[in-house]
Amino acid sequence: MYGLYIHIPFCVRKCLYCDFYSLPTAKGPVSQRVASEDQPDQPEFLAALGKELSALPENFRPETIFIGGGTPTELSRADLRAMLQTLRERVDLSGVIEWTCESNPGTLTEEKIEILLRAGVNRFSMGVQSFDPATLEFLGRIHSGDEARDGFRLLRSVGATNINLDLIYGVPGTPTEVVQRDVESLIELNPEHAACYCLIFEDGTPLTKLRNKGFVREVDDDTELAQYNIIRSALNAGGYKHYEISNFAKSGRECLHNLLYWGGGEYIGLGPSAHSHWNGERFANVRHLGQYIKRIETNRTTRAFGERLEPEAKARETLVMTLRRLDGIAAAEFKQLTGFDYHTLCGDKINWLTKEGLLDASNDRLRLTECGLFVSDAVFSELV
Ligand code: SF4
Repeated sequence: MYGLYIHIPFCVRKCLYCDFYSLPTAKGPVSQRVASEDQPDQPEFLAALGKELSALPENFRPETIFIGGGTPTELSRADLRAMLQTLRERVDLSGVIEWTCESNPGTLTEEKIEILLRAGVNRFSMGVQSFDPATLEFLGRIHSGDEARDGFRLLRSVGATNINLDLIYGVPGTPTEVVQRDVESLIELNPEHAACYCLIFEDGTPLTKLRNKGFVREVDDDTELAQYNIIRSALNAGGYKHYEISNFAKSGRECLHNLLYWGGGEYIGLGPSAHSHWNGERFANVRHLGQYIKRIETNRTTRAFGERLEPEAKARETLVMTLRRLDGIAAAEFKQLTGFDYHTLCGDKINWLTKEGLLDASNDRLRLTECGLFVSDAVFSELV
């Protein structure tokens, strides 16, 4: 299976914790706008994206598409329509099974949803993060809890039958009871999929700067774990299967595009900062809209970075990616994917992590244990 990812680098304004590459649009606060000569408009970006689409490898026939960002639904109706039209003209979409578009409350309209559905989008993802006013304000989100509910209902009423909602926990100042209410509110809406992430203090974000200056204190591990467990049990009780560290789905509604990432599969990413894994190589586009456009206009590569991993490093990477799935990976499947036996590759580490109760290596399968789930990053860093 192959995937196509398209990065739309615009948001109404930047959330305080966000590390994704996106530029605030004119509707955002003046303080966040970049100098106008550095901020190409959306049509210029779409023209460059059209050229990148035309340069996709011949015979590239994606089975999953993910339009993310940024906030794709922040594009105007005309730009959204033009982008989807270009995509249809330049890519063979006959094999597409799942086509997701990300959105944020406050940027969805009936017309935009209709345009997306008509183009073939069959899965929507909406960044709710919380329904709680204080939490939303702390995170710098542009919407209220009610606007998130309205956005979800609008999606449903126009015809969206497969929706993911994102939540964030581990937010400083947000009591655990609020997290409990957030997950209950999400379940009440009854989306097909939920993604629940612990807030990360990424380098360089305004939130991290506030922490470094002592204005914000990170939530302690015990509280984060308690909140994670509350989310897990509420969603399990609500009929959602926990299938990846942060992802939960109703039966048969797992995200195929993300499963492709977690299975070590190949995909091509377009747009500034988009990553690709193609023909055994990993590469990423420049993280700057102006440079991305200029490079395309002057027929230069958009790549900022590229690497071809040695087979052993590639096998280790595949191991940690597949361990993100709760069912882990069978020894035979791993051998087939990579040519390696995971015990030969890192047997000592596997034995040690198993003794520590973080990995389960029984029945010719390797997977994270309950304890390992919450400290997965530490487990993975031992294995790569
Ligand atoms: S809406 Fe999403 S992509 Fe945009 S700034 Fe907020 S978190 Fe980042």
